Amino acid sequence: MDVETKNSTLIISEDLLRLFEGRGEGMVVTNRFGEIVVMNRASQRFFGVNEDINLHKDSGSLLSGFSDPISKNRVPPSILPFNQTLATERPIDSREFLLKRRDGKEIFVQVSTSPIWDKDRIIAGTLGILVDVTNRRRLEDALTQRNLQLSAINRIATLLNRTIDFREVLENSVRQTMEIFNGDAGAILLPDKSGRKILVAASAKLDGDFLSEVNGSELGATAFGGVLKFDVAESINRSDGFKGLPLSLEKSNFDSVVIFPLKAKGKAVGVGALFSEVERALEESQREIMEGIGTVIGAAIENARLHEETIQKTRLLESKNRELQQFTYAITHDLKSPILVIEGFARELKRGSTVAIEQEALVDAVLSSAAQLHSLVNDLLELARVGSVDAAPAETDVGELVNRVLKELSIRMTEKKIRVELEGEFPRLYVVTWYIERVFTNLVDNAIKYMGDQASPKIVVGVQERTDHYTFFVRDNGIGIPREFHERIFAIFQRVKTTETEKVEGSGLGLAFVKKIVELSGGTVWVESAGKGKGATFYFTLPKQ
Ligand code: ADP
Repeated sequence: MDVETKNSTLIISEDLLRLFEGRGEGMVVTNRFGEIVVMNRASQRFFGVNEDINLHKDSGSLLSGFSDPISKNRVPPSILPFNQTLATERPIDSREFLLKRRDGKEIFVQVSTSPIWDKDRIIAGTLGILVDVTNRRRLEDALTQRNLQLSAINRIATLLNRTIDFREVLENSVRQTMEIFNGDAGAILLPDKSGRKILVAASAKLDGDFLSEVNGSELGATAFGGVLKFDVAESINRSDGFKGLPLSLEKSNFDSVVIFPLKAKGKAVGVGALFSEVERALEESQREIMEGIGTVIGAAIENARLHEETIQKTRLLESKNRELQQFTYAITHDLKSPILVIEGFARELKRGSTVAIEQEALVDAVLSSAAQLHSLVNDLLELARVGSVDAAPAETDVGELVNRVLKELSIRMTEKKIRVELEGEFPRLYVVTWYIERVFTNLVDNAIKYMGDQASPKIVVGVQERTDHYTFFVRDNGIGIPREFHERIFAIFQRVKTTETEKVEGSGLGLAFVKKIVELSGGTVWVESAGKGKGATFYFTLPKQ
């Protein structure tokens, strides 16, 4: 076949052309000016044109469809293999390009060229062979991507292994997942103790609306609940209406959320969430990677949690130990004084040098010290009993209990002309009844004891309802408590020493009781007082369940 070009004739054998008909490889022939003059059917497919193409006119635009497979920048004509072969008169082997077709689709092609000589051994053009390598490249890309993600899991694991601090583990997990999967925001959600509500344990780049909507919400039928239950990662898009996700997402910039289980010991312990401003379909391989990351994070969370628990238990043991040392010291110290009195006076009596009237006074003193010892020992025994086996919780009407306590103390209150008020709705709670009765008795008893000479004495017993607990309080307008004693008075035998308190009898055990009972019941106790003469309010909390 002869192809007329500007000033020479390119002769291409009919055999060669036939060889390329109906084959998968593309064949392209250029003249000595680098213009395409012939192409087979496969090449037409690659370029996205049909046989009506006017090669003479369109050659230039076809060749401008080649670009670099990585940078995707257009390749200048001089660098195309056809022109390079023309310039060097040598073949060019297997160069890869991204070929933009006329219809806009892109394929990857491998191009090899060789020179075509005319009969005078002068270069007359090039023969180019094009092979579609799109599938291979896509596979390679997917493999590279997967490799990157696998090494990312590795990196996450190494990074998470480096710290055992719970917060740090959570924050690192969010950051790393966002980085690996090009997320625009991320969060780690963990179920609360009851397993029914969800808590945001860590988050990045999420706004307050979303966080406050999710935090503390019911897991129930949400997508998060689904992931926890079925253990599989899923991607939920705006076009699905963000099904099962918080409503505030509608107003956000995000178009998709990928949620994946965080697993420890084969069980989902939480949910990872990755937010993107583009929609995402989760391919099988990505799903596996997400679940892999979930397992790494889950294990790290579990480790950090165990570590935290151990630290807390150790702290508790240390504080119990300190308490015990203090307790032993206080007991020996406080029991000693009445014993010394008894000993001294009994010795005096034995010497027999005293007259009858003195003897009676000595016996009285011995008896009173013995009685003091007796009541101290009884109180100590009772304190020791708190937390022992005979403490079975029962449904308790706290309002009724408070009324009972007030009635028992009513004679002393009337004597001191103290007005009593109740505030708030007292709940029914599942508690050890005698514990809570003891707490109110001690607090109201103290409010009476430390009223001082207030002109219009008043005690308020009340309750405030909070999200997961009740806060009870006993308020008085008595002598008040200086700031530096606010914590100390809850320790055993600790009393405020002023001229006003010295007149009041007490063992210094009451508030130790209160603290022990409240803490055993899962609450906390504290006092607020503006200082001397300003009254005091004792608060304690009890959990709702
Ligand atoms: P006790 O009353 O037997 O001394 P507590 O442990 O009940 O022991 O109280 C410790 C100390 O706290 C008291 O000695 C007193 O100084 C102070 N205190 C307790 N309640 C009040 C109160 N309502 N107002 C002022 N001081 C108080």
